[in-house]
Amino acid sequence: MSDLEPLLVLNRALSCIYRALRLSLEELLQACSFKFDFVEFLEGTDLVVVRQRDRVPGYIYVSDLSSFLYCPRRFYLTYRVANIVDRIRIRKIREKLQQLRPELKECILYDRETFRRILIGVYLHRSVENAFKFLKLPRTYRVEEEVVDEDLGLIGHVDLVHVKYLSEEEFLECIAESRDEEYCEKPRAVVYEIKSGLYKKEIPEGYKRQAQLYAFLLERKHGYVIEKVYIAHPTHPSEVQDKVNLKLIQVEYSRKTTQELLDLVRQARRVLLLREPPRIPLDKAKCEKCPYKLICLY
Ligand code: SF4
Repeated sequence: MSDLEPLLVLNRALSCIYRALRLSLEELLQACSFKFDFVEFLEGTDLVVVRQRDRVPGYIYVSDLSSFLYCPRRFYLTYRVANIVDRIRIRKIREKLQQLRPELKECILYDRETFRRILIGVYLHRSVENAFKFLKLPRTYRVEEEVVDEDLGLIGHVDLVHVKYLSEEEFLECIAESRDEEYCEKPRAVVYEIKSGLYKKEIPEGYKRQAQLYAFLLERKHGYVIEKVYIAHPTHPSEVQDKVNLKLIQVEYSRKTTQELLDLVRQARRVLLLREPPRIPLDKAKCEKCPYKLICLY
């Protein structure tokens, strides 16, 4: 199997993203309705209360941690809005959320933009799976693999992982270099995280952390040696050449990274144990464009 095959799968999957990006939020929701059993848009806000059918209560989803990196209060409100409902200052929002109180315990409060990205992700996963079947790739490729880490209370769905063992020749080289047979016998993995943004400049930090966390969870669960971590995202339509729809950005992954990831998860867990949103230094520019500002209590 050539090294190009994951790129083929990703390229095929991303060829449908331009279609997904043109769909309205309502159209996307219709296409992905199998995934959710409760969706309520909060009138007068950019917020939406969502219950995902297969969501496991009590766990943090890796994809939600980018919200923590943006602002810990925002992350708290995403998971724990039920704790502050009675103190929301805008009466219409407060009353609506009070009505939804029975659902709120199992629901997540997203903003429309994040929810739209989640829906595009669900749409894309289906495309990757179809591409996977069509290309008849071997089982060494895994699509949307769920990784659950009970110790960390973390769940992730990894878009694409390519796992392989060292060839005989590579194995001998590995032994000569490391003298560590156990290490050389371990499977090697390349992790791909697919994003729907067109990013002409930098990939947001939160997305890099997300990709690293998937690699970290796979390493902990399966003992893989992580060879590389990539974010794949669609090329801007004006830049597509030779039908290549994707850009691959390599994300650093090292021992130092894993320690930072552990700290990040522990901090996020601690925030969720609080009875009210954490007090943090305010960043006015962030708050100004934050969809949670109507309920933030700051
Ligand atoms: S309004 Fe500001 S403090 Fe509140 S959640 Fe948004 S970014 Fe955080």
